[in-house]
Amino acid sequence: MGGIVDTALEPHVATNYAPLPVVIARAEGAWVTDVEGKRYLDLLAAYSAVNFGHQHPAVVAALTEQLGRVALTSRAFMNDRLEPFAAALSRLSGKEMVLPMNTGAEAVETGIKVARAWGYRVKGVEDGKARVVVAKGNFHGRTTTIVSFSDDEEARAPFGPFTPGFDQVPYGDADAIAEAITDDTVAVLVEPIQGEAGVIIPPEGYLRRIREICDERNVLFIADEIQSGLGRVGETFACDREGVVPDLYLLGKALGGGILPVSAVVGNRDVLGVIRPGEHGSTFGGNPLSAAVGLRVVEMLETGEFQERARALGEHLAGALQPLIGHGVTAVRIAGLWVGVDIDPARGTGREVAEKLMERGVLVKDTHGQTIRIAPPLVVRATELDWAVEQLRLVLEG
Ligand code: PLP
Repeated sequence: MGGIVDTALEPHVATNYAPLPVVIARAEGAWVTDVEGKRYLDLLAAYSAVNFGHQHPAVVAALTEQLGRVALTSRAFMNDRLEPFAAALSRLSGKEMVLPMNTGAEAVETGIKVARAWGYRVKGVEDGKARVVVAKGNFHGRTTTIVSFSDDEEARAPFGPFTPGFDQVPYGDADAIAEAITDDTVAVLVEPIQGEAGVIIPPEGYLRRIREICDERNVLFIADEIQSGLGRVGETFACDREGVVPDLYLLGKALGGGILPVSAVVGNRDVLGVIRPGEHGSTFGGNPLSAAVGLRVVEMLETGEFQERARALGEHLAGALQPLIGHGVTAVRIAGLWVGVDIDPARGTGREVAEKLMERGVLVKDTHGQTIRIAPPLVVRATELDWAVEQLRLVLEG
């Protein structure tokens, strides 16, 4: 964020991003190829949207097969792919219902609307008074309501006025959540691991405690698993690390198999069922193409293979990164195959390290100044991770 924008390469593209100057033309598995034919190991995986690797053959097959039949119907009519997808995702999550959307931000917006409607219709909160407790350092997307409860000034500054009804508490502090809850609170919304903040892992027991507090106070627990869910942390959901089941899962990114934007809110009938026909929707949400891809993704996750790879490769990567601590790296946080690496400011910023890694054929994304994030496609090989860590060591050595 905040890097130099190279308008020479993309003069007609609005400058809301400052991408690394690599122009990707092809991709397969964990590798991408630029317009000049140079290959790079992708250690970002489109912020975990590409968990299964670029162009995964099973996902591509599901997409092309469906493309030959029907792609878009709108929800004015039913289609023969949506119920199988919703049934499979419900089974995977141990829940009863799915509300399909497209992007992560839409899933978050939907979760908030569901919680407010539940608050008024089930809990009995006075109309217009519903409140949601959120964590500082959160990242839930970019809509005006979502940035309303962000504490990242870069994400908020020129975009007010903001949506009221949110209370921020420090991340990782369950007691602060308990203190913030009032009779008007309808939900606690947190990321089980904060991704954009730099892979911030809360203290053990945090999610369990949130579950208890929400049960005691009659408040919904909404887990934003858009980045943490669907295999990344070595479990299907990051909440599984503590054996916790939230009331609503917010899913996105990898749900589209790295090919399409597919998101969903998943929950039980007593909560998700509060939304009535005509109150909420999306032209593209639940379209047959997305549903066919989402169904294939769920089938791939049901084997447990990707969760197991994330676990084993994450342990391997943790071992490989360990020797760098004290040698250009000040801290490493790791959950499955998801790593936040804090760079010693004496060796440069996260962005500078990312640029030098790019020159060496490794793509990572910096976040919050000194951190780089490593989240490779889960199909990456251990030897490829070793090679990438060696490139990082060389960059840090200068
Ligand atoms: N929630 C979390 C935890 C995320 O990491 C993101 C994106 O990075 C979002 C929501 C927003 O998703 P999208 O960019 O698809 O709107």
